[in-house]
Parts: sequence; C-alpha cells; structure tokens
Amino acid sequence: MSAGLVEVRGVHKAYGTLEVLDGIDLVVKPGEVTVILGPSGSGKSTLLRAINHLEKVDRGFIEVDGELIGYRTRSDGALQELKEKEILRQRTRIGFVFQNFNLFPHLTALENVVEAPVSAQGRPRAEVEAEARELLERVGLGDKIDAYPRQLSGGQQQRVAIARALAVKPSVVLFDEPTSALDPELVGEVLDVIRDLAATGTTLVVVTHEIGFAREVATTVVFMDGGRIVEQGSPAQVLDDPQQERTRAFLDKVL
Ligand code: ADP
Ligand code: MG
Repeated sequence: MSAGLVEVRGVHKAYGTLEVLDGIDLVVKPGEVTVILGPSGSGKSTLLRAINHLEKVDRGFIEVDGELIGYRTRSDGALQELKEKEILRQRTRIGFVFQNFNLFPHLTALENVVEAPVSAQGRPRAEVEAEARELLERVGLGDKIDAYPRQLSGGQQQRVAIARALAVKPSVVLFDEPTSALDPELVGEVLDVIRDLAATGTTLVVVTHEIGFAREVATTVVFMDGGRIVEQGSPAQVLDDPQQERTRAFLDKVL
C-alpha cells in the first residue's frame, strides 16, 4: 500500500539539455489540497502533465491511487513502460482543468460534461446525463446546461470545465492556473467552486498564483523553482515563514 493518493518519486524530465523536472518527490494524501507555487518556467505545468501522463518522464515514477502511471519497475530495477491501453484507463481516473478551459466548442455545457464518461469510460448515457446535470447545478450553472461555450463567460466556461473534470469520478483533480485567463471579477466564482471541492474532501493539486486562496485552502504549499521543489509545508510555514531565499524573493513579488 502506498501512503499517498499521488506519489511522485525521483522524477526527472529534460527537454534537450534543460532539466525541467530535476528530481521531484511529492506525496499527496487522500483529501489533501496541494497548492504549487513558483515562477514561470519552473516546471509546474510539466509536473501536472506528467501526473496525468500527458508527458513522459525520463526517470523516476508516478503512482496515482496505488497504480503506476507510465512506468513500472521490473524485478531487475529497470523501468518498463506501460501499454497505451493501460495508460488511457489510468488517465480517466484523473481530472484535469486547464488555464484556457479547453471545452469542446461545438458541444453544449451538458454535452461537454457527458463526453468523457460515455466515450472514455463506456458508461450509459442516461445515467451520465443525470449526474452531469447535478454537477452543473453544483457549480452554479443549472440554467446553462444547453449553452455553448461561446455563449458563456470565462468564469462560467471554467466552471463547466470543472464539472467535466468531476464527471469521470476522478480520484484526484489537477488544476493548472485555473484562474489565470480570467478577468479579475470572474476569479472569485471559480475559486469558490474549487474551495467547495476542497471542503467536501476531493483530493486536489492546484497550480496557482492566488496566494490568498493557498493560505485559506491548501493543506500543503509547494514552492518550485528550476525544476525542483525548493520548499514545502503548511501554508503558515511556507507563506509566512519561508526558509529559503528563493521562496522569499518569489513571495515578495507576488504578495
Ligand atoms: P511552468 O508551468 O512552471 O511555467 P513549464 O512546466 O510549462 O513551467 O515549463 C518548464 C520549462 O520547460 C520552461 O523553460 C519551458 O520553456 C520548457 N518546456 C515546456 N514544454 C516544453 C516542450 N514541449 N519543449 C521544450 N521545452 C519545453
Ligand atoms: Mg504553467
């Protein structure tokens, strides 16, 4: 049994000579909210993409819910790649919310939410639709189920994207700067939905520059720089009493 719902161990990833992930170890326990902070280019998106297997790692391994993502260690210690089919099955158990919503433009809000459980998980459409309606209610969009993305504000689109991520009944939901593309007045409604998920015990990993949100919601704050985790701990530890100069310099800039 693994201690974490998400376990990242010794993960390395390079693009050419650039070490984008330079030995990442991270454990996310069930029900925890991990907020990842760090300057642009520090590897945050690459880490999330590796957890979701959108990105192959060069070394190390990642487990979600006790299942290896991408690689398993053979008895001789070498890494063996998982088969594509197995990867796809594992990926359906992870929700991913992107900075730019990435909704299907030709599908309504309801159809966007219904898509993955039906086509990737093969679940019955009627049952999935009933759940999708509930999810859209939950994110405050019960009156928008038949709207197309272009008819929705950025904040509403991102809330559809969150409902869509939840529709696969994921064991963890990953957010990559979910409010960065939003007008300032729309940030709050999206953070409220994420806060609600946190309060109901959903395991979350959130890359964000919203320090106030991190302080309020995070179980653990992780500060990344140069492909490494420089410092991690409770919000009080990392945000109010950072031990590393690089963390302090970053917080001085964003606070
Ligand atoms: P962050 O999300 O923290 O801003 P990223 O994970 O997106 O950082 O990127 C980390 C570094 O990797 C950056 O220097 C970026 O330019 C580089 N990078 C990301 N994706 C690629 C890619 N597909 N090819 C080459 N370099 C990349
Ligand atoms: Mg990024």
